[in-house]
Amino acid sequence: MDAKAATAEPLLRVEGLTKNFVTGGGLFSRAPDVVHAVDNVSFSVDRAETLGLVGESGSGKSTTGRCVLRLIEPTSGKIVFEDRDVVQLESGALRSLRRDVQIIFQDPFASLNPRMTVGAIIGEALTIHKLARTRREFTERVVELLETVGLQADHMRRYPHEFSGGQRQRIGIARALAVEPKLIICDEPVSALDVSIQAQVINLLEDLQQKFGLAYLFIAHDLSVVEHISRRVAVMYLGRIVEIASARDLYASPRHPYTEALLSAVPVTDPGLRRQRIVLQGEVPNPMNPPTGCHFHTRCPIRKLPLCSEVVPELKQTSSGHMVACHLRS
Ligand code: SF4
Repeated sequence: MDAKAATAEPLLRVEGLTKNFVTGGGLFSRAPDVVHAVDNVSFSVDRAETLGLVGESGSGKSTTGRCVLRLIEPTSGKIVFEDRDVVQLESGALRSLRRDVQIIFQDPFASLNPRMTVGAIIGEALTIHKLARTRREFTERVVELLETVGLQADHMRRYPHEFSGGQRQRIGIARALAVEPKLIICDEPVSALDVSIQAQVINLLEDLQQKFGLAYLFIAHDLSVVEHISRRVAVMYLGRIVEIASARDLYASPRHPYTEALLSAVPVTDPGLRRQRIVLQGEVPNPMNPPTGCHFHTRCPIRKLPLCSEVVPELKQTSSGHMVACHLRS
């Protein structure tokens, strides 16, 4: 183990990350609208661990993932990858960061160029980062990557439309692996796939983590998807993290009422474990105009007014490693 790996420093540290999107406005129109997509979010990811990041659509989880790679520029906050201050990186250093941190997307088909062969798609990064010195080295590496993700050497001459959804996600994973990253942001990588195929892709990601010591920031809208792959799980609601805990603690004893409601919808595999279904009232509020105080207070079954509608609950530690943002559960 090298000296860096032996330190307790996380691989990725995000502190107070905030992203506001400004829409509308103009010379003669009304004031612009501001969407607080990510609001003061902090978390870390250790080497070779998976942090699950879960929330409904509009919770800010994908924006958070894209900010880590600077595919979206953060409004404020700090992102540190190893010893690099990501927000301050200039273009050359940013290119090098994007070798260490890769992303795979929900819809692999949309992210694969339909006019390129699979070999060219996977090998593109080898060329950009000068990772193959000869044509032969290039081909050997592409074949190795295809086989690593469970595809075959002759697939390199085919085009994306010739593959199933699960195979296309494997191609996306092979492309990410080409540059030997340390962290992969998995942005809902299995949401578009059938349940049986989801399990295959998650098993593949777990095998690759073992083999290459990869860390994942695994984004999903469903707690059942991240249960087995995550060491820790963070739950987001309207741009804020409301709970972070080890996966074991979070699934066995959730603290935040929103996490409880999400978990109550997850099918239980252990017959000794029963969960009462909690159906939340109302829709997720508009992020342009989120509720005051605790963002969840308009749907919370245990809210206490006016405390919950007036005071923002801080994310506080309740027991070792379990953090929750709730006035009544801290
Ligand atoms: Fe519910 Fe209040 Fe806790 Fe928010 S702070 S989750 S509204 S009890």
